[in-house]
Amino acid sequence: MEPVIGLEIHVQLLTRTKLFCACRADYFAAPPNSLTCPVCLGLPGALPVLNKKAVELALRVALALGAQVQRVSQFDRKNYFYPDLPKGYQITQRDAPLAWGGSLTFKVDGELRTVRIRELHIEEDAGKLIHTETGTLIDFNRCGVPLVEIVTEPDLRSPREAREFLRALRTLLRHLRVSNADMEKGELRCDANVSLALEGKLGTKTEIKNLNSFRAVERALTAALDYQKERLIRGEAVHQVTFGWDESRNELMIQRTKEEAHDYRYFPDPDLVPLVVSPEWLEQVRAEMPELPWERAARWQREYGVPEREAEALLSDPARADYFEEVAKAVPNPKAAVGWVLSELWPYWTDEEPPIPAQELILLIQKVEEGVLPRPKAKEFLELAAKGEGRIPDLIQSAEATVVRDEEALWTIAKEVVESNPQAVADFRAGKNQALGFLVGQAMKRSQGRADPKRLAQILLELLKG
Ligand SMILES: [Zn+2]
Repeated sequence: MEPVIGLEIHVQLLTRTKLFCACRADYFAAPPNSLTCPVCLGLPGALPVLNKKAVELALRVALALGAQVQRVSQFDRKNYFYPDLPKGYQITQRDAPLAWGGSLTFKVDGELRTVRIRELHIEEDAGKLIHTETGTLIDFNRCGVPLVEIVTEPDLRSPREAREFLRALRTLLRHLRVSNADMEKGELRCDANVSLALEGKLGTKTEIKNLNSFRAVERALTAALDYQKERLIRGEAVHQVTFGWDESRNELMIQRTKEEAHDYRYFPDPDLVPLVVSPEWLEQVRAEMPELPWERAARWQREYGVPEREAEALLSDPARADYFEEVAKAVPNPKAAVGWVLSELWPYWTDEEPPIPAQELILLIQKVEEGVLPRPKAKEFLELAAKGEGRIPDLIQSAEATVVRDEEALWTIAKEVVESNPQAVADFRAGKNQALGFLVGQAMKRSQGRADPKRLAQILLELLKG
């Protein structure tokens, strides 16, 4: 029995206004029902006007996935009743979507996998129901917010693969600057179809709606597969069921069975003309495309020698990728910047904003590379600055004021260390090179971390060989 999984992914597009009206689209922190107008509330006589920017962002996604953009696409009404949908229908694209086909290649456990895309279309979001102890509240702020829906072919073969696919898609969307794609905020959500193929014959599909974390995707798919397997082993039929996922209880909830399936009575929206994407417009969108993450990784490898694994980590978030690039461009040894950003700075980077400005990290790395700031001291400064207990330029200045530059003082320290560590000296002379590191450490201690370890090592070597 082989799992067969397909995904339908909803991505909130990063436009200033909604899909068909001038209301602001960034509803997340806004007071309930403060971002509404007659259009998105579906009042009689209000007419939708398509947001050009939303189309351009959706086109970017289509181009990045290698999909075939249709010259003419069309908006349809999907009719159903639900309290969060004041118009009584959702405007979507069904019969003539924006684009067909395409694919996304990503990695699972170091191996490349390619998933084909079936289609991409633009649609509007619905409002939000907020269930409280005393009743259910409705917030219409999200009504009409633009989404692009990406539908894959059933090419995924395990829950883990589905999760990694989504992760790769999120990275792509963020680099395209089309969405923040934050699953916690619902900017990236996914429905999954799953079935078990027996000897090449496809089984009945189970659908899971509204998965909004990577963990939920993997767990819900695993649970749905277990449910199907159990039924098949018992010799029972798998019925077509739609589930939701209860994250807190870690279990599937039945939402509806096939008998209750909706008939949405789709028809072309008479208030909207067909959407025409001219070759010139498409070329313009292509020309303005940001660098794709895999292109960037390849360029980093070429220009800065960044290894693939590190590049993947740095590319997970474009803001961090930009930060790294700013640092790598400015320092004498760009490869060293990888370590500074990934190993040293990363642990402190918990908010959206970087813990210290790129210019300050550049200064710090430059001082270390010039040999005027010992590495341990630099790490200490980084920690202090990241915790808001000082600024890098000030810390460096105060340290430089006390760095031992006096050659005579350095020779004195080195001589003292050689005299008081006969065992290490003997080890070094017997060929144990690591003994030098120990002696440098001792000398740094004596200088209270205020000397340049490179210069101390040179002096110690001269003494040991002399
Ligand atoms: Zn509106």
